[in-house]
Amino acid sequence: MYLVPRKKTSHELLKKEANWPELSVRRTFQQITFLHKVIHNQYPTYLYNSLPPMQDPSNRTERKYKFDTPVYHHAFYRDSVIPSTLSKWNNLPNHIRTIKKLDTFKFMLKREYLEPPNPLYHYGHRFSQMSHTRLRVKFSNLNFHLFNYNLVTSPNCKHCSLPETPNHYFFICTQYSRERNKMLQKIDSILQAQRINNKITLDLILHGSKKLSYTLNTRIFDVVHSFIKKSGRNP
Ligand SMILES: [Zn+2]
Repeated sequence: MYLVPRKKTSHELLKKEANWPELSVRRTFQQITFLHKVIHNQYPTYLYNSLPPMQDPSNRTERKYKFDTPVYHHAFYRDSVIPSTLSKWNNLPNHIRTIKKLDTFKFMLKREYLEPPNPLYHYGHRFSQMSHTRLRVKFSNLNFHLFNYNLVTSPNCKHCSLPETPNHYFFICTQYSRERNKMLQKIDSILQAQRINNKITLDLILHGSKKLSYTLNTRIFDVVHSFIKKSGRNP
């Protein structure tokens, strides 16, 4: 499983929306979240039935979960709440629009549009960057995450029969001991050289630290990316 590459046009459209005044962005967030709940049956079905038809969720194209929006000839109707929410929904990047779990959906929506992006999230080579992102958004190939999406029958690690969480992968699993020791030693020496007494936590590994400079964080990310690559796990 991997994060579907973002459709450039939709992504740019919503980025544009994120430049609206803060209140409008928050209102958009609420409207889109409300629509998500209607679609996924958290409100009475008559609400869902009052919407225009939606593309079949089994549709394998980019149109999956998109509404067939009617053409509104009058600006008043086009810009009123329901049509404009449907259009914002349709313009969501595919990998966000298709998320069924409300918590994950809201997390991704917030990360994308309400918080300033962490420049570190775009650092590094594409392969490592994608694995790192999947781990951050709890959408990785680790069994604990796959199990949450009903994609495997057990959340456990095949090597040690413990839940294969990100913490297990980075800190516990015996399969990666050698690479892990190297990773921890290198991160430790980066921190020690700066006389920084930062504990090496999962949070530091996944997000970097606001206490450290961008350059120091990128050096830590390089070490983490090297661990991900050499572990051979493709998380
Ligand atoms: Zn293990």
